[in-house]
Amino acid sequence: MTARRLDGKAIALQIRAEITEQVGQFVAAGHAPPKLAAILVGDDPASQVYVRNKERACQKAGIESLLDRMPVDTTQEQLLGRIAELNADPSVSGILVQLPLPSKDQGGAGLDERAVLDAVDPGKDVDAFSPVNVGLLMQGRPRFLPCTPHGIIQLLHRCDIETSGKHVVVVGRSDIVGKPMAMMLAQKDGSCGPQTANATVTLAHSRTANLTEVCRSADILIAAVGRPEMIRGDMIREGAAVIDVGINRVGDRLVGDVAFEEAEAVASAITPVPGGVGPLTIAMLLHNTLMAAKWQAEA
Ligand code: NAP
Repeated sequence: MTARRLDGKAIALQIRAEITEQVGQFVAAGHAPPKLAAILVGDDPASQVYVRNKERACQKAGIESLLDRMPVDTTQEQLLGRIAELNADPSVSGILVQLPLPSKDQGGAGLDERAVLDAVDPGKDVDAFSPVNVGLLMQGRPRFLPCTPHGIIQLLHRCDIETSGKHVVVVGRSDIVGKPMAMMLAQKDGSCGPQTANATVTLAHSRTANLTEVCRSADILIAAVGRPEMIRGDMIREGAAVIDVGINRVGDRLVGDVAFEEAEAVASAITPVPGGVGPLTIAMLLHNTLMAAKWQAEA
């Protein structure tokens, strides 16, 4: 079997075209364009690239963006002060604080990441990191959906891969990917309807016993581990769908958490790295920014 490649890049472009059209309609109805404010503390090269990509994506969709560069030694008080200003600014629809914040070794002031994320107004929390938005998702009445797991739901839906009644194994339990992914798939309904929800979910992690066996029991295997090519071909059941969230730099190559060639030989469908899940994350950030602007316009 050679797996079907799930083209996340093409699907992300499709979603972005839909968002661009919706932004156009929103503005044509007399509203100011949505605006995304990004805060970047320090000058980490990877973070600069991510923020620049987000800015460009906003621009192409007709969403305004504002990049707030703060020095590496920004104090907690200064950062919270800036977030408070953006929370109160009616022209700002969504706010994101680019992670990771600089550590003390990098010249950082020892910022408390949790307190910083908690300070973002839940109504502008387009990354869906605030406890309010996490709680709403847990209760099955989400406001913002976290971008990477939401991108995966969109990908599965648009590739006609149903999750209802299936066993999905998510490897990795981070607050950004694994946990919300598991939660979204276990709900009765979701942004793409009940067929892309209602899964029986196993959330695996570094303490999971018999990880190979657990993974082999999956109809759909989602790897969000951050370890290059950790998921080998023999961990995948013949005919399973494999979603690789991992982005790992190995030398000058980007590789996923899945050994792609081995997996491709046994899976029925697989996302490549790059060009799989990655592009969807930014598309769903644009979606959340537009949603935020619409809710604020209605309020
Ligand atoms: P993270 O916060 O480092 O979490 C990694 C998870 O993997 C943890 O739950 C950890 O378990 C688990 N893990 C580590 N080693 C393991 C092992 N040997 N066996 C089983 N589980 C293991 O990572 P993350 O933020 O979720 O990111 C995961 C990957 O996705 C990274 O490569 C990241 O770059 C990528 N990513 C991509 C996107 C995108 O847009 N495509 C977005 C976000 C992240 P414990 O909890 O037990 O420690």
